Amino acid sequence: MPMGDRNRSLNMIRQIREILAASDPSQSRLDKLVEIIAHNMQTEVCSIYLHHADDQMELWATKGLAAGAVHQTRLAPGEGLVGEVVRTSSPVNVQNALADPRFSLQPATQEQGFLAFLGVPVLRSGRLLGVLVIQDGVERLFSPEAVEALQNVAMILAEIVASGELLSPADLDEVEVRPLRPLHLHGKTIVEGMAMGQAVQFEPHVVGHSRLTDDPDHEIERVRTALDELQQTLDRLFVGKGHAFGEPTREVMNAYRMFARDQSWFERISAAASSGLTAEAAVERVRGEYRQRFLKARDPYLRERLHDLEDLANRLLRHLGGVTEARDLPENTILIARNIGPAELLELDRSRLRGLILEEGSRTSHAAIVAGAMRLPVLGSLPGLLAHVNEGDTVLLDGELAELRVRPAPETESSFVERLRVRQQKRAAFSALRDQPAISIDGQKIELLLNAGLLIDLPHLADTGADGIGLFRTEFQFMLADSLPKQADQTELYAKVLEAAGNKPVVFRTLDLGGDKVLPYVSQEREANPALGWRAIRMAVDRPGMFRYQLRALLHAAAGQTLRVMFPLVSTVAEFAKARQILEAEFARLKRFGHADLPTELEIGCMIETPALVWQLDDLLPMTDFVSVGANDLMQYFFAADRENIRVSDRYDPLHPGAVAMLRQIAETASRHNVPVSICGEMAGRLEDAAVLMALGFRQLSVPASAIGPLKQMILSLDIHDLAEQLQKWLQDTVPNIRKNTRKFVKKASSKP
Ligand code: PEP
Ligand code: MG
Repeated sequence: MPMGDRNRSLNMIRQIREILAASDPSQSRLDKLVEIIAHNMQTEVCSIYLHHADDQMELWATKGLAAGAVHQTRLAPGEGLVGEVVRTSSPVNVQNALADPRFSLQPATQEQGFLAFLGVPVLRSGRLLGVLVIQDGVERLFSPEAVEALQNVAMILAEIVASGELLSPADLDEVEVRPLRPLHLHGKTIVEGMAMGQAVQFEPHVVGHSRLTDDPDHEIERVRTALDELQQTLDRLFVGKGHAFGEPTREVMNAYRMFARDQSWFERISAAASSGLTAEAAVERVRGEYRQRFLKARDPYLRERLHDLEDLANRLLRHLGGVTEARDLPENTILIARNIGPAELLELDRSRLRGLILEEGSRTSHAAIVAGAMRLPVLGSLPGLLAHVNEGDTVLLDGELAELRVRPAPETESSFVERLRVRQQKRAAFSALRDQPAISIDGQKIELLLNAGLLIDLPHLADTGADGIGLFRTEFQFMLADSLPKQADQTELYAKVLEAAGNKPVVFRTLDLGGDKVLPYVSQEREANPALGWRAIRMAVDRPGMFRYQLRALLHAAAGQTLRVMFPLVSTVAEFAKARQILEAEFARLKRFGHADLPTELEIGCMIETPALVWQLDDLLPMTDFVSVGANDLMQYFFAADRENIRVSDRYDPLHPGAVAMLRQIAETASRHNVPVSICGEMAGRLEDAAVLMALGFRQLSVPASAIGPLKQMILSLDIHDLAEQLQKWLQDTVPNIRKNTRKFVKKASSKP
């Protein structure tokens, strides 16, 4: 930024500080603010429009337009050049407004004489609070420096408006920016549950007056140093030596390269600091700009990169703040994040965490599965959430209704507390059923098994009364470790699991890596379609080194008892045969070498996770001791809808007649071959889905711990035979709605005395 512009910008920021420090009424502070901006920007007009709750833009203060228009002039959504700034969330710089077709003349403002127009959005964390405008009599385009300076002022303005420093909440009653307005948002339940607590943003956020500085050179130096440190840390991480901030993902490394090589990131931040922002505020300002740009990108790959950019900016902010350790959470934390990884989640102090709310997040993602194991309610699919919630706000997370209340009214809060109490009572009712077998009223015995993968899952075996572990996801240990777990560590974990289970059966699923489950310490080529890529059993049979280690660990851990093992993501009978042969060869080898600590018996099963395998069941079943349907993946491949992509992950109903026909085929073929079949995707834990599965013939459901109580309660009132008959009828309907019909059926059954 040229020296003259820089001084002007600094001078303006100094004067803004003085206004903030004074104790004048808010309107007069705003009036002074527009005056200072107009003076420093050397323009005839400066106006502030704020976003009204009804989506209109209201003129709140002006220097240069008719004073009588203040609070009277309102622009409809999208109206005029101000509307264009709102629509694009970017600056609008116009040489001659009167000649621009988008211009909407507001007679009350008497703005006919002003030709040059520059409007910039007042944004805070992606939420538009208002528009800051300068106008001038001469026909001209504002310089890039002027646009930059006005954006900086807008950023400061956003922060002070949102923090209530400039306007009191009473002044903002009608205006969207009022920080205390209650909010009611709808999302999707990712992990069932209800929680009340205070909002804590997962990502660091710069607040308040620490945004302005008198010493830009010092701030630029701080940015430079922090960036150097960040680069060094990332370099170290890349070669695997040390990890102050947790393991970076491959994408972060790519993003790092992209931004570090492209000097413009640093230059943009320095320019923002030059004009009087602190280093932290400058990073946020530039992050906001990139965010807007990336969000507009059509290319999903670029949009995905936004996550990496956010991560980098957070890392940089942490370096600036000298923060190197995980933060302490307050009591009753409800964590708010754009997205979160499974390892990040486990690093948090569970005793203080009540719930998790994500802007993104999908039900079958691994973070969701870990949260389920932690019994942590999670709500997702709330775009723009971070912009709506302030640190410390009271939040009500309602997984029953898939909604979120922020800053609730007292009546809302008390009815929520009442519902929480009722839930507690229900929970108590579930635990009273703990030792009762799950037998339907038509006498069918259902085995309710647990999905597990972590040590924290093991106590659930006892407290839910589950019949065993139907799926132990062994890759979680690998994903959470800093380096490849040694064979002895693997044996230790498996032995603990078997010990906790006692006489109850445990099915270990061998490593299901690749796809979205990438190990940071193992280099793997990036694939265009990881879900369809080189993963799970494909890796195991191609490069059996790691697979064999795991099989040995399992064989040792199950000394003196039955070892049950199954293989993930099998697509052909040959793949299963190969994996089975490797396991049997390991067993034989250990026996040959005289190892005494071996299982008494092996049961080898196959997961059914690809539609291809459903058409090979007659060949597969004679070779397996049992099968287990991995419905998360099976549905993903059946409907060709990525389970990790929230835009499509819930698009197709697993109770669609097509999917039901496939599930029926599996259950019936397994029964014909007399091979035990279980189902372990997330759907097995949902009431309606589980009811249909039982009607199709499934008698073993492997589910998250929180589902066992509700399922057992449902089963005790269910006539499975009757439901199976009804299901046949519903399938004859012109447009069958199995979910709706099943819901009614289950509800009616449970309300019978
Ligand atoms: C599944 O795909 O349904 C399954 C149980 O395995 P995961 O969710 O671990 O892929
Ligand atoms: Mg799977």
